[in-house]
Amino acid sequence: MTLSEVRSKYLEFFKAKGHAIIPSAPLVPENDPTTLFTGSGMQPLVPYLLGQPHPSGTRLTDSQKSFRSMDIEEVGDNRHTTFFEMLGNWSLGDYFKQEQLPWFFEFLVKEIGLDPNRLYVTVFDGAQDIGVPRDEESIDIWKKLFSDQGIEAEFVSLGSEEAGYQKGMQGGRIFGYTDKNWWSRAGAPHKMPAGEPGGPDSEVFYDFGIEHDIAWGPECHPNCDCGRFLEIGNSVFMQYIKQEDGTFALLPKQNVDFGGGLERIAAVSEGSDDVFTVAHRSIIAQLEQSTGKKYAENTRAFRIIADHIKAAVFLISDGVRPDNKDQGYFVRRLLRRAIRALQKIEGARERGAFTSVAALIGGIVEEYKGQYPELHAKQKEIEEQVTEEETRFRITLDRGAKELERFIGQGSLTAQDAFQLVTTFGFPLELILEEAGERGIKQVDIVGFKELLKGHQDLSRAGSEQKFKGGLADTSEKTVRLHTAHHLLLKALQTVLGPEVHQRGSNITGERLRIDFNWGAKMTDEQKKEVERIVNEKIKEDLPVVRTEMDKEEAEKLGAEHEFGAKYPDRVSVYSIGPLESAFSLEFCGGPHVEHTAQLSESGVFRILKEEAVAQGVRRIKAVLE
Ligand code: ATP
Ligand code: MG
Repeated sequence: MTLSEVRSKYLEFFKAKGHAIIPSAPLVPENDPTTLFTGSGMQPLVPYLLGQPHPSGTRLTDSQKSFRSMDIEEVGDNRHTTFFEMLGNWSLGDYFKQEQLPWFFEFLVKEIGLDPNRLYVTVFDGAQDIGVPRDEESIDIWKKLFSDQGIEAEFVSLGSEEAGYQKGMQGGRIFGYTDKNWWSRAGAPHKMPAGEPGGPDSEVFYDFGIEHDIAWGPECHPNCDCGRFLEIGNSVFMQYIKQEDGTFALLPKQNVDFGGGLERIAAVSEGSDDVFTVAHRSIIAQLEQSTGKKYAENTRAFRIIADHIKAAVFLISDGVRPDNKDQGYFVRRLLRRAIRALQKIEGARERGAFTSVAALIGGIVEEYKGQYPELHAKQKEIEEQVTEEETRFRITLDRGAKELERFIGQGSLTAQDAFQLVTTFGFPLELILEEAGERGIKQVDIVGFKELLKGHQDLSRAGSEQKFKGGLADTSEKTVRLHTAHHLLLKALQTVLGPEVHQRGSNITGERLRIDFNWGAKMTDEQKKEVERIVNEKIKEDLPVVRTEMDKEEAEKLGAEHEFGAKYPDRVSVYSIGPLESAFSLEFCGGPHVEHTAQLSESGVFRILKEEAVAQGVRRIKAVLE
């Protein structure tokens, strides 16, 4: 089955079970400065899982675009990609385990046609010391489901990693883990602060067969990484809340959060243990054709190119530009890694004469445009950006090659030289070593080089971890005020420059807001002053900020502002500043916002810090309340 067949089967299956199909949120979380990317289906829905009512109801399903920058180095194995789609279904205080587990099982066996003998499942094994019991309910449900298929399903308790999973399969079908099958934002049950929700989860694995088992022998179990098993889906049951005394009570409203890998399910639907052969089939075919080389002989490089270019296409379509910082840094890194991998296939010596990675964009857009029309709408822009980045990187590589030539001419290559080539010129170490070797320089101080590089990476890692520790939308007061100021600013820009001005991107931190909008010229000082004046006037008027749920059509009729290219569900939430009937500003938005505009003055006066060009016809404003 293709990706789109599996995707539509899944959405239709859950629709028939009373779920509203909601569109994927963008890959860049809106108004959430704590995380760079949307990495799971759950992430955009956290506010609703924590109790806010969702405009589409209590049963939701979707296929969420996800990007995991953390998995970038993993790409090259048979199961990890940085970009993938996570199939999701949610119960917001509606159904629970008795429905969820049988539905997912039915979907896999009946809709996808998987052999139930190849499915193995895991459940929470209990944390007796803090009074959380083993998830017996899920065990019973699974036993029944398997026995209905004529499979006798034994439960085997494997406990924690410290206790050792060495006991292996022991003929089991359902496996209990204490450390792998618990979900909370803080991790394991004993790490959770009081007041946090959490609960057991249950994962489904596909078994590719015993032959993968050889390296691990009798110690293999579903979560071992020898390659025999592949995790395809995970049902999280938000069942408990941690209390002040450290014990766990049942939540008054229990939620289900299911996440399953679309690409992995499509792969196993064909019995393939390589997600790329199914999820990246057309890119691989195109690469084989243009390079004349085979996937089977260049597997790792093909995988890197295929994943990275696809991820870059989706990120750019969600408004990210190649850059040296924030999200843009990852697009740059993805493209550079893809370009280098492509060079490697074609042979390092022939660099400069490689097929462009930009040539792969058309095929990706073609494959996905049904589900993600924004790709088609922005195809030209995506191609321009990738081509520009590619051209620049080739120049960088050429310069690096010249610099290397200079060092070699001097007859030696120090650790410092190599470090400079790698960090300043982005020149790959393998190329340096190869070239140096061929030119008679037999000794390069690799140990010294690695030490320099390690110091450098530790510095940049410390920087990026800062950005990853989050997960939940940042609702700190300052950010919320800036979010409301952002709405006022957009409307003020339309008032001063004209109604044709619309938002093209936004980003809000606790310190400042940033908006990108279409406008062809530098704003004059008078225009900027007038925009500031209007925003501050509206803050003084102390207008109410009102959230209303309505049908998308109605919101469109009212002229509610929405972001270019974004997709919305049939029921939407709309924020008006001023009463709905006579609103100053009206936007499709999930919030959060202040209740009335005078609250903004608690941070200070609205001021534009900077107005600059980001691209042809797109301007950026950074502004503060201070
Ligand atoms: P794994 O342990 O295999 O890396 P995970 O535990 O990180 O997966 P979850 O966070 O539970 O995965 O995500 C839910 C589902 O999303 C997984 O069951 C899997 O099918 C899919 N998934 C997760 N990460 C990736 C990835 N990097 N590439 C493709 N699919 C993924
Ligand atoms: Mg998991």
